[in-house]
Amino acid sequence: MTGDNDEKYIDGNGAILLGNHVACDRYDTSRRVAVFTHFHKDHLKGFDNSLGRCEAVIVSRPTRDILVAVKGKYLLEYSNLIALDFNQRFRFEDEHITLFPVQHILGAAQVLVETADGTKMLYTGEFLWPNTTAVKADIVVIDATYGNPSSIRTVSRESLERRFLNIVSTTLKRRPVHIFTERGKAQELMNLLYSNGIHVPILCGREDDTALAKIYENHGFPVGEYLFIEDNKAIEILKSGQPHLLIQHVGNPVISYEPYKYLRIKVSAWDTPEPFYEKSRDSFVIAMSSHADFCDLLLYLAYSDPRLVVTDNYRDGDAIALAEHTRRRLGKEAIAQPM
Ligand SMILES: [Zn+2]
Repeated sequence: MTGDNDEKYIDGNGAILLGNHVACDRYDTSRRVAVFTHFHKDHLKGFDNSLGRCEAVIVSRPTRDILVAVKGKYLLEYSNLIALDFNQRFRFEDEHITLFPVQHILGAAQVLVETADGTKMLYTGEFLWPNTTAVKADIVVIDATYGNPSSIRTVSRESLERRFLNIVSTTLKRRPVHIFTERGKAQELMNLLYSNGIHVPILCGREDDTALAKIYENHGFPVGEYLFIEDNKAIEILKSGQPHLLIQHVGNPVISYEPYKYLRIKVSAWDTPEPFYEKSRDSFVIAMSSHADFCDLLLYLAYSDPRLVVTDNYRDGDAIALAEHTRRRLGKEAIAQPM
């Protein structure tokens, strides 16, 4: 029987359990179907186990393409790896599984399971709001990354993007720009720059970043000209000093090519003292999170209008506070799991 507060919706290993068959974002021994919402590492644990043991491992098409690019073509030999289109209903025995797109990174999905008795159970995964459509459901398991009332954006994402674009375009007239960020966000920024008329070669510090850029392009997100930093053409660009951008992952060793004095911009998640600040004369930090903040999470729940909310107490965030404020502000049943 679903809908009962005593049910287990998130197990001790962080698997989100929907209906009788589905585990999301972790392998669970009792489940025959695994769904992975997006390609961030903390949501992919147990992927290989699932592939070896589940009857179906479901991801969105872009996520499948990214996984193949990052993990290898051997994945295509697994007939149980299923790339679903968004909004496509997949039947497994007496239940139906549908992925709906969310704004987070390419391919990110929320997962709806409709059980045999008609109960709609949804896992939001990680998402950015607005630009994500809330799905109506009876039971919603929600990400609680920014579930604390102290996690409210003071500057809009659009405003941060404008400031980022301004500083990059102004700087490129005088010198190159070196961006530090994460996998996925790098390609998002490349698309943002290209869509806003900033067309200079982008040199990627890692070869797999160029593979990911290609997938973004294939799925309708043009990223302009990009090269692996060790390619001959990239080396020529570095030597000539023509306007260009370097993109590297945070934490990788810094590539520094004198005599250029790069302007360095770190584009991080939401762990900075201010959303946009000058760290030193040649270095800026921008906190461009791809997650809903506290108010956004409550807005999602208001639109989805479930009878029961389960906040994710396994992953980072504040599931206890989000459950409490869901009860208090929305008047809905809400529990945090696992406890
Ligand atoms: Zn994520």
